[in-house]
Amino acid sequence: MIAQIIVDVSAYPVDRPFDYLVPAELEELVEVGCRVKVPFGPRNVLGFITSLKDQTDVPDNKLKAITQLLDIEPVLTEEMLELAKWMTVHTLCYEIDALQVMLPSALRAKYEKTIKLTTELTNLPDELQSLFGQKEMIPYKKVEAANLLKLLKYCMKQGFVEQKTVVKQQGKVKAVRKVKVLDDVFKLQEIATSIPARAKKQVQVAEWMVEHAGEEFIPHELCEMLNITSAVLNGVIEKGAASYFKEEVYRNPFAKDAHKSKALELTGEQTEALTQILQSMKEKAATTFLLHGITGSGKTEVYLQAIQEAINQGQEAIVLVPEISLTPQMTERFRARFGDLVAVMHSGLSKGEKYDEWRKIGRGEVKVAVGARSAIFAPFTNLGLIILDEEHESTYKQEDTPRYHARDVAIWRSHFHHCPVILGSATPSLESFARAKKNVYTLLTLSERAKKQSLPSVQVVDMREELHSGNRSMFSTSLTEAIQERLARKEQMVLFLNRRGYSSFVLCRDCGTVVQCKNCDISMTYHRSTETLKCHYCGYEQHVPTECPECHSEHIRFFGTGTQKIEAEIHKVFPEARVLRMDVDTTRQKGAHERILDDFGAGKADILLGTQMIAKGLDFPKITLVGVLSADTSLNLPDFRAAERTFQLLTQVSGRAGRHDLPGEVIIQTYSPEHYAIQLSKEQHYEPFYEQEMAMRHKFAYPPYFYVVLIQVTHEDVMMAAEYAGKVMDWLKLKLSTQVGLIGPTAASISRVQNRYRYQCLIKYKKEPNLIETLQQLIRIYRTEWIKKGIQLTVDLDPSTI
Ligand code: ADP
Ligand code: ZN
Ligand code: ZN
Repeated sequence: MIAQIIVDVSAYPVDRPFDYLVPAELEELVEVGCRVKVPFGPRNVLGFITSLKDQTDVPDNKLKAITQLLDIEPVLTEEMLELAKWMTVHTLCYEIDALQVMLPSALRAKYEKTIKLTTELTNLPDELQSLFGQKEMIPYKKVEAANLLKLLKYCMKQGFVEQKTVVKQQGKVKAVRKVKVLDDVFKLQEIATSIPARAKKQVQVAEWMVEHAGEEFIPHELCEMLNITSAVLNGVIEKGAASYFKEEVYRNPFAKDAHKSKALELTGEQTEALTQILQSMKEKAATTFLLHGITGSGKTEVYLQAIQEAINQGQEAIVLVPEISLTPQMTERFRARFGDLVAVMHSGLSKGEKYDEWRKIGRGEVKVAVGARSAIFAPFTNLGLIILDEEHESTYKQEDTPRYHARDVAIWRSHFHHCPVILGSATPSLESFARAKKNVYTLLTLSERAKKQSLPSVQVVDMREELHSGNRSMFSTSLTEAIQERLARKEQMVLFLNRRGYSSFVLCRDCGTVVQCKNCDISMTYHRSTETLKCHYCGYEQHVPTECPECHSEHIRFFGTGTQKIEAEIHKVFPEARVLRMDVDTTRQKGAHERILDDFGAGKADILLGTQMIAKGLDFPKITLVGVLSADTSLNLPDFRAAERTFQLLTQVSGRAGRHDLPGEVIIQTYSPEHYAIQLSKEQHYEPFYEQEMAMRHKFAYPPYFYVVLIQVTHEDVMMAAEYAGKVMDWLKLKLSTQVGLIGPTAASISRVQNRYRYQCLIKYKKEPNLIETLQQLIRIYRTEWIKKGIQLTVDLDPSTI
């Protein structure tokens, strides 16, 4: 028998499966989706079996054999293997990278397998019985060494034994100590009568045990129930009436018990949306729905009820959220509705904990997987529904190889399982909304808040005027007054510093002008080292001006303030305010997000100050004020999506205020109050924003009118990086049609990272049948030749930033 195997050798020029001989003793054991060890060159490497066959073209003297079978049960389903193939083409990655990204990281670490007995020992074939002896668990190695893997596999299929993986160090399986009463009533009676009468308590316990033969208890609970000390219990156990054992438990990342929630009676709009989703589930149609609902319109309740239906039908559901550590409240709602049927793939979990959740999914012990991007690979086999909440978020795109977008994978899986996908958002990405308009996606709209609360009132403050009236602080007069009011009323507020990435721009504090590229309508990026401004879309470069090109003021400088500085400022201006700061610095530790949010929820602070981290999912009844300190930071990012991101962020943060009984107020500070992204976010006017932004995209030939591919070339030597970026351009010019727009090579916006210089080339196209093949060829040249010269090349189809 021959196995086709994808080996774990990235950076090998050719990405294809290799044939290996399956040794006779493994023939009945190997399955597609199992991992193996195989010789590759001088080394033994990991590999995945992707198919099995009888013949090979490899001559006998060249054919090598599998050296070890790592899994007796496949770790990847056939669906995943097929999906990986698709990913290699659509993200231009190695197949091994696609396979690896689907597995929990514990499976990539060193680990030890054990075999656990799940039946009476006597049910096992004799050879295995003797291996187990008195033990309940034995190492897999022991079975392997005794050459009994075939028998083991048979027993596994019969459900007599189970494979358990004990991950070394990172994630030991957590166990609880339990007491098991002997399963033999006569023996128990014998023990009970043999205990001397003066040990009154022990006699009582032993007699009680006669009635509870074979049952299991947690020791301290048993003692409590029988009102005895552990010494008494131990006395009885010593006499053989019961025994201690350890039971593996799944770690429960949300140990605090969620109270059960019931389905709410839906509003008319919710009912309409749900009906269409259920219809599509019933028809087994792979429809992609775009659920566009303003903040607080009850999208989550629609998800919950659709999932309930999937569960009722014996199916499973995946729910993706942008960043799970930031959305504990959202996760909690799923647990409250579905309890133990939910597996939460939390980024803060240890490797072992994640692996536990993954196993529960694989075994069908849970029906709903909630997680960030990678949860899209949850190994369910009977999916009924896939949900992406906040579908516009850029975190759904992986920035490293494989550069997949969870939305695309979701849609692929929906076709595989014949089930619908729901993309939900208050501010859909332009791409998705455009597709909905073209009926590629089915649009569902929730235009009112579920509890009929009014949207918060939004005030836009012109920071130019503040400056003119002599206020040079970060807080406008309105915001200062609003904060003071909240402090006096003991209400809570959120102050939001809109800051992404590291790039900064140059702004005139008198008139609000930001220096833009004359070719691209994109903010120019400030490079401190050279005191220049650069456009990384077209490469145009100029000196930092000393006066404003519009109003000739000298108040022109680069812009950017950190949260720490603002915290200090708050303490100065509002000494009595209690502040919690949430940014990358304060949330490095595991569980820090939850702690900060819990503290805020418990009223331990008046002000929550944070970056875009706090824009999502917060739902606290006492928040009545949201302040956006500077809307300009995201508006002026050198990114064609800057306006879209600003609109999304402002809408999201505004949605945090006044979600419950107290009315909410939002104050947005900006130097560009007239910008349409800011004006239209005030009333959550998505469609007018969409129209206006689409017009801009059309004018400058940006997505979604065009597709974009970003190719990045890096090298320690700036000349090498530039030279090979030039070669990329030459290759593309040669191979692609003339309708394709080619831009570059230009230095990347962050032109040097970890001492590597970065150059980039952009491809803009509408339709280019040759594209994937051309890029594959380019990658092959890179892997065979350029890589030896220290070049690194990455290709990103549909990058989330340029
Ligand atoms: P979204 O996810 O669209 O922002 P949520 O699902 O968080 O909105 O709903 C906002 C609030 O409205 C929540 O407190 C939720 O419990 C409540 N809600 C949702 N649907 C209903 C309904 N049909 N009846 C009453 N309250 C609802
Ligand atoms: Zn000016
Ligand atoms: Zn430009």
